[in-house]
Amino acid sequence: MEEQKGGLLLVMAHPDDETFGAGGLVLRHTRAGVPTYLICATYGEAGWSGKPPGAKKEDLPEIRARELEEAAAALALTGVELWDYPDGGVAQSDRKQITERIWEQISRVHPRAVVGWGPDGGYGHPDHIAMGAYTDAAVGAMTEGDRPALYHIAVDRPLAEFYAEAMRLTGTANGLPLQAQDNVDVVIELDADEVMMKLRAMDCHRSQLEDWRIALRDHPRLMQQGYGREPYITVSSRATGLTEKGLLGEFV
Ligand SMILES: [Zn+2]
Repeated sequence: MEEQKGGLLLVMAHPDDETFGAGGLVLRHTRAGVPTYLICATYGEAGWSGKPPGAKKEDLPEIRARELEEAAAALALTGVELWDYPDGGVAQSDRKQITERIWEQISRVHPRAVVGWGPDGGYGHPDHIAMGAYTDAAVGAMTEGDRPALYHIAVDRPLAEFYAEAMRLTGTANGLPLQAQDNVDVVIELDADEVMMKLRAMDCHRSQLEDWRIALRDHPRLMQQGYGREPYITVSSRATGLTEKGLLGEFV
């Protein structure tokens, strides 16, 4: 990872978390010139859905690594650390080791803010929950003066309603047990251009694009409602809320 201090660090579990979970936040910051880094714990090799056409299951890790590279370019990420913990087995992996590796990256990159998964894992994914806990621990282990602000990705009621509505419209069984949080205190609102840019990054993750997301393209208003809003929870920060430019408070 290239070292450029004072940026933003995302700690995620799977290739595509960075885009589907926080693509707008990343774009908002990279477009403002804030160096933004990503740690991704797994190659996402458990996410086989028969896509893209002609792909073979055993090639999925390689496919997803390439998709992540493309999405990282679309989001203008400064650096990506792709680790090879087992997809679906992060919680059973060496907790101490992963926490230390996150801590090391924080020590090298010196981000002003770290964004990770919260204890709900967005929709309860055990890898998300585990990575979120390791990230909290790594940030907590930094010495006071070096400790970055910490935010969690969250789902609030409007976002949960978007998913329910999107599934209903596209005739999809709702398989996402989203847990709407009431204590969301930071919401990034994307403009139409930013939503388009986020969609371009989403399109890079071809192996993971569910049919309902493709069907949703016919519903621009709903897309804006769902993809154009990203809720976060401030866990610890010295500068709460968003700046005038819509960046996290740390980036004035
Ligand atoms: Zn994930």
